[in-house]
Amino acid sequence: MAARLIDGKAIAHAVRAEVKRGVAEFVAQGNPPPGLATVLVGDDPASAVYVASKQKASAEVGIVGLDHRLSQDATHEEVEALLRELAAAQRVSGILLQLPTPRQVDGQALTALIPPDKDVDGLTPMSAGLLAQGRPGLRPCTPSGVMELLRRHEVPLEGAEAVVVGRSDLVGRPLAALLLAANATVTVCHSRTRDLGAVCRRADVLVAAVGRPRMIPGDWVKPGATVIDVGVNRTDDGLVGDVDFEGAAERARLITPVPGGVGPMTIAMLLRNTLLAARAAAASPVEAGAAWN
Ligand code: NAP
Repeated sequence: MAARLIDGKAIAHAVRAEVKRGVAEFVAQGNPPPGLATVLVGDDPASAVYVASKQKASAEVGIVGLDHRLSQDATHEEVEALLRELAAAQRVSGILLQLPTPRQVDGQALTALIPPDKDVDGLTPMSAGLLAQGRPGLRPCTPSGVMELLRRHEVPLEGAEAVVVGRSDLVGRPLAALLLAANATVTVCHSRTRDLGAVCRRADVLVAAVGRPRMIPGDWVKPGATVIDVGVNRTDDGLVGDVDFEGAAERARLITPVPGGVGPMTIAMLLRNTLLAARAAAASPVEAGAAWN
């Protein structure tokens, strides 16, 4: 293998340690600790595990967890009332509505009620709009985790050819906007892209966010490229990414493994967003925009 590994576990650990120091400093300045409100509606076991891991990670860095649980038969109006209360509450720096919600609750519509300055997932239409316009705001966690991996490895982005395979609201689209903001020349690919291999071979930075096991073969990787594999696919061989790791690692300069690459960054960036939101809320309106970046 020629490529160097990008160790997402170690970088996520470093980010969490920085957030922990940042929270301690923020509190030492006389501020209340940042608060992360999670809202879980119903009894989906996978969602309960996600919420528990976010709450545990928050506690480890000194963020106060506000764990709100509503029953499987909670009404849309009940969840809406809770979100409005959390939006107004001073102790709440960030709000997460865990999706999916039960059928009678329109999770997507309710997510839009989270104000942009508390949108620590960075996924509301307002946050997406701010990002699309290149204005300050809280950024989605997985894409900003990818940017952090690139930054820590000093991957040059200015003028670089970046190819993002996948255009979801969760990963591909916001990541393309972040790469563009970093002055890369960005191409976004999707299921209708013609000759995907030829497009990928142009990439100095190749990001796969598709959800199809090993769909990107090694010979689609330009020699010396940086390869970021966001994909997480459960197969008989265990967890694998969207990239054929062995083949790609022969040609790339830097590559993320799956697991242990992008995956650990998501919660680390959620914690960072919560600290950024708390700092922005404590700052004057003029300073708040700067506190977000
Ligand atoms: P998604 O919403 O299903 O989007 C997949 C994207 O891939 C779509 O834009 C789709 O194109 C495109 N696509 C599908 N087949 C394709 C093909 N044959 N060629 C080119 N593009 C193709 O998925 P997602 O939520 O973005 O997640 C992508 C992957 O990242 C998944 O494996 C997911 O588990 C993983 N993920 C990991 C993390 C993490 O590590 N923390 C976080 C989020 C997601 P169309 O738009 O044309 O349909």
